[in-house]
Amino acid sequence: MKDTKVKNLLSAEKKRQKSVINLIASENYVSKDVLEALGTETTNKYAEGYPGARYYGGNEIIDKIENLAIDRALKLFKLNPKMWGVNVQPHSGSPANIAVYQALVPRGGKIMGMVLSHGGHLTHGHNVSFSGKFWKQVPYTVDPKTEKINYEELKKIAKKEKPALVIAGYSAYPRKIDFKKMREVADVAGAYLMVDMAHISGLVASGVHPTPFKYADVVTTTTHKTLRGPRGGMIFARRDHGHVKTKKSEPTLFEKIQKSVFPGMQGGPHMNQIAALAVALKEADSRAFKKYAEQVVKNNKALAGELKKLGWRITSGGTDNHVFLMDVWNGGTGLTGKDASRKLEQAGIIVNMNTIPFDTRSPFNPSGLRLGTPAETTRGKKEKDMIALARRIDKILRK
Ligand SMILES: *Cc1c(COP(=O)(O)O)cnc(C)c1O
Repeated sequence: MKDTKVKNLLSAEKKRQKSVINLIASENYVSKDVLEALGTETTNKYAEGYPGARYYGGNEIIDKIENLAIDRALKLFKLNPKMWGVNVQPHSGSPANIAVYQALVPRGGKIMGMVLSHGGHLTHGHNVSFSGKFWKQVPYTVDPKTEKINYEELKKIAKKEKPALVIAGYSAYPRKIDFKKMREVADVAGAYLMVDMAHISGLVASGVHPTPFKYADVVTTTTHKTLRGPRGGMIFARRDHGHVKTKKSEPTLFEKIQKSVFPGMQGGPHMNQIAALAVALKEADSRAFKKYAEQVVKNNKALAGELKKLGWRITSGGTDNHVFLMDVWNGGTGLTGKDASRKLEQAGIIVNMNTIPFDTRSPFNPSGLRLGTPAETTRGKKEKDMIALARRIDKILRK
């Protein structure tokens, strides 16, 4: 690279990534093959439209790349291409969610989502995000006692508020989601069920977390978290009208989603991302990846379990997946989430501060930390490493 300034920054970032322990639950390390696909000539190509129906010439190879990503995505999640379609063009997870709301919920309509401070995502109707400005959030939280989802409570809210769409899937929820029960919540309101599996799609692909496809109408995901691909987003949608009564003459859910992504919201797809996604989807469709996903959960349980043994409060009492929340404030250490993440960063352990359910502190300096093991598991760490790491974290925080 001739640009030495950028070159130096890139190599500094590479070095930084190698030198730290990364417990950020939404990050991962992609393979050399995924990186290689990202840095290719596909980034030069305009491909507005879809395979076989582009607005630009010269897309015969691009079409093959996008179709490969589509086929691999459907295969990975064991979906019948006659029943489900997938759009692999969303530039990331947030645009994928916008596209769904735009397709299925009239402006100003109600979307029911978990509040941000309890583990939901900004795009689930928070008022600083487009999702809360153009649509109205019907909020739900976790249960104050168990810190888990109380599905019966959600049904009551859905019955009263009648949202048009219910969202399941979170950014900081350490437990398995019962999609059958979330379907019941949506049905109470006659609503669509959108599952946002951004965080858990790698676990779902491996069968380590139950699959949402039996119950959902639409499923969105990022591609760069547990799925371990390039940054990006995907939307899976049924090729019929899903669980909501609709006139026969209306377009199918998948047709609505396709239109909503392009021309509804985006122009040209990022074909280098889609090429890299095709590579990642093949990688994820393997025994090695299944083992990886199993190890992510084992490692996460080991890390949370040891921290619990050392006297730290883990919200909801533990974890079933790749992420957990540690309450550092209410343990009597006098540490806030910000203090704790700073102390750990000084020691080369990267985490993020996070609110805990019903947090009494502000999101800018909350009571908790969010930790997760997808990235360190990619680097080959095992349970014994997690136990040692928990002890290190404990020492650092108590110093
Ligand atoms: C990360 C995440 C997103 C958004 O992804 P971006 O790629 O950062 O836009 C959406 N939903 C959930 C639940 C997430 O965790």
